[in-house]
Amino acid sequence: MIEGKVALITGASSGIGEAIVRKFVSDGAYVLGVARSEDKLRAIKEKLGENFDYETADVSDYERAKEIVEKLVKEKGRIDILVNNAGVTEDTLLMRMDEEKWDRVININLKGAFNYSRHAVAYMARQRSGVVINISSIVGIYGNTAQTNYAASKAGLIGLTKSIAKELGKRGVRAVAVAPGFIETPMTESLPEKLKKAVLDMTPLGRFGKPEEVANLVLFLSSDLASFITSTVVEISGGLVI
Ligand code: NAP
Repeated sequence: MIEGKVALITGASSGIGEAIVRKFVSDGAYVLGVARSEDKLRAIKEKLGENFDYETADVSDYERAKEIVEKLVKEKGRIDILVNNAGVTEDTLLMRMDEEKWDRVININLKGAFNYSRHAVAYMARQRSGVVINISSIVGIYGNTAQTNYAASKAGLIGLTKSIAKELGKRGVRAVAVAPGFIETPMTESLPEKLKKAVLDMTPLGRFGKPEEVANLVLFLSSDLASFITSTVVEISGGLVI
């Protein structure tokens, strides 16, 4: 579906990002992965070989994003797909939310996506083709207790997505937000059992999602099979509404 395409995926070292990397490479794309943990990225490279390279970076670093995108385009001649997937949570009730927790989540989840989109779309517009996929969350649509910072960052990603789609659609660039529900990754495994059970009870399919299921959706949305899909949010949640 995306054979020969050049993709950049942030948060490539774990969970959903790693699943997207594997899916893209097995479909014949070249992937540059970005995350902070070099050991994990190196282990992925050892398995995937020449169609995967990585850069260690904190996505909230604007200049580093510029450098990484420029280097990728210099080496591969183009950038076809950008997946802004890096994300963190710092959950606490609003009345206990300190400035540091707020800033950290917004800087990584939302500013990080701005940083990479800002530089990637400049090349995509010139190429007259490209896709930006932003990994949002159903929490960005419905809100959630103890996640004001995370929900605001994920709602922000939806606004970013729709605005990229409007600004750049006529230049061949699509932008789509993906809103997962509860997916089994390191991000969710340490949540309290009581909360997990409550989520399961509210999920019509009666189970949590797998990173590979999100990767399947991202693969489809990144491919030409989705050539008329832009400026929208696709939920992948087993039907969960919170
Ligand atoms: P995860 O396993 O914790 O992976 C998070 C990824 O983001 C890791 O690769 C991490 O790599 C990277 N990352 C975190 N901070 C970073 C930073 N400052 N700079 C660069 N990379 C950074 O979590 P996940 O569940 O796969 O989450 C992936 C995305 O899906 C997130 O945006 C999350 O909000 C979203 N999501 C997840 C769920 C779910 O249920 N799991 C639901 C909805 C949305 P390093 O630590 O190596 O930097």
